[in-house]
Amino acid sequence: MSVLLRADNLVKHFPIRQHMFGRETAVVHAVDGVSFELRAGETMALVGESGCGKSTVGRLVLRLLEPTSGKVWFGGEDLTALPPQEMRSKRRELQMIFQDPYSSLNPRMTVEQTLVEPLALHGLAPGRHRERAAELMDLVGLAPQYLQRYPHEFSGGQRQRIGIARALAVEPRLIVCDEPVSALDVSIQAQIINLLQDLQRRLGLAYVFIAHDLAVVKHIASHVAVMYLGHIVEYADKRGLFASPRHPYTQALLSAIPLPQPGARRERMLLQGDVPNPIAPPSGCRFRTRCPYARERCAQEVPALRDSGGHSVACHFWEEIAPPAAAVADVAVNERLVRLQAAFRTTGVSKEVETI
Ligand code: SF4
Repeated sequence: MSVLLRADNLVKHFPIRQHMFGRETAVVHAVDGVSFELRAGETMALVGESGCGKSTVGRLVLRLLEPTSGKVWFGGEDLTALPPQEMRSKRRELQMIFQDPYSSLNPRMTVEQTLVEPLALHGLAPGRHRERAAELMDLVGLAPQYLQRYPHEFSGGQRQRIGIARALAVEPRLIVCDEPVSALDVSIQAQIINLLQDLQRRLGLAYVFIAHDLAVVKHIASHVAVMYLGHIVEYADKRGLFASPRHPYTQALLSAIPLPQPGARRERMLLQGDVPNPIAPPSGCRFRTRCPYARERCAQEVPALRDSGGHSVACHFWEEIAPPAAAVADVAVNERLVRLQAAFRTTGVSKEVETI
């Protein structure tokens, strides 16, 4: 399958004024040199602590934010070079699903108006808007008779389905899913994840999936990029990443997952200190202020993201660092996954199982 999306050395710096009345400005280094590729029908997960830059990458990909430098290629076309008018019509192919569907839906518009608006904007389904809105409701597992209702009349899971239907209205090829299930209960999470996977199979969609729940990531992603303070520190297919995490930060994320058995203990890799200020990130390796393996070289030299057998890592010493209890960490992910999958099986794919 050919590459659908390519992010090429993306950088996003936000200038801020440090004093209310002064001219002194500083720069927040939100994203610094992020590159990756995504093929049609694949899902790439972006994971990391809040503030690591993953949501900014999602918005840069859709050009909802202009990059400070770097390029985004979509279907062989440089999106960053498109004039605003062309970008508006191109955006039909790139959509976004938000964490909180309620705040992204207009409370004064019925579901039908919400779904018809993008159709009218892009001149799609002329003369059959109502029919197409009903098809979209069916596609996401909601009954078309709810088309005349307002967002507040739906549950959180149903509102997320409406958000997905609105994204699908314009027949996109790529969807950026920004924490789409993190505000939902586990059983509802399972329904939405199942729905997204089913839609991917049927429509050949590619997803950039932004998340912090590693069990959900393991279920849905084909590849995983781990971000820390604006950099990708590890990138691999999900099997490689969960079975053998190479970067100390990834190892710490995995070891932080609680074991499901009551009373069970395992060695946890605790990180020292807080995430550094993105206005003045550490020299060399940005993770060095919290890394238990940091040495002098780490302060002087930025580790490049180097590929070894299809598994990339940005650490000078990764070959010397054994993954501590990685298998145990993976068991923890797997056990949570088993519980999620049980929920996935019982909830099915696109049935509407919630009541209004
Ligand atoms: Fe730790 Fe150094 Fe590797 Fe950075 S380069 S992750 S500080 S060992």
